Amino acid sequence: MSAHKIIIAIDGYSSCGKSTLAKELAARLGYNYIDSGAMYRAITLYFLRHHIDFNDSAKVMEAIANITITFAFNEKTQSSDIHLNDEDVALYIRDMIVSEKVSQVAAIREVRSFAVAQQKRMGRKKGIVMDGRDIGTAVFPTAELKIFMTADPEVRVMRRFKEMYATNPNITIDEVRHNLELRDYIDSTREESPLHQAKDAILLNNSSLTRQEQLDIVLEWTKDRATTKVAG
Ligand code: C5P
Repeated sequence: MSAHKIIIAIDGYSSCGKSTLAKELAARLGYNYIDSGAMYRAITLYFLRHHIDFNDSAKVMEAIANITITFAFNEKTQSSDIHLNDEDVALYIRDMIVSEKVSQVAAIREVRSFAVAQQKRMGRKKGIVMDGRDIGTAVFPTAELKIFMTADPEVRVMRRFKEMYATNPNITIDEVRHNLELRDYIDSTREESPLHQAKDAILLNNSSLTRQEQLDIVLEWTKDRATTKVAG
């Protein structure tokens, strides 16, 4: 038996812990981790900074032509920092003003074509864990391992609240709940690649799993998919 590099696609609702799992998984496997949501957030940040009217296709296309998104590995955090036109924007893309608009921006066809084309290129050499909303359905429909994550809504609200409270003590639980509900609604009902579980994705509900437990489960699944059984 020999192990080969595969593509791991992780999709699911907002704040299910996709990026936590994806990051830990990539570190354990020596794979690249790409947070596709960060790309949509960076594009949204650019649109907000430049006052781009989301409904004006010509302006949206013009803006996209001026955007370059890159990921740079950060030794300290052991994950990739996202750069928007050479600026590290990790700190700004999690702001509530970006969270409030990102699902609208991510529903724009031109935005998705731009982001998906780059995501597909990043997966060419395999050995990648990517999380998002359409990774197993549109970006890597032939990924060897697809996971669809979910968790109880209140568990998700509290997780995101704690995360946001660390940098913004004025945030309220209601604001966070409203934002998650709104994004899930827009993400699952949009015309372009709506969020849904791919037929061949494994459902993972992590409401009552510890980080270590979920990592162990997924490492088992990975071992199974990344191992070629030689006949004879
Ligand atoms: O993953 P995160 O919550 O940071 O994603 C922010 C938003 O980006 C999502 O709510 C969704 O609207 C959009 N997104 C998407 N497709 C992806 C990843 C994220 O539409 N593959």
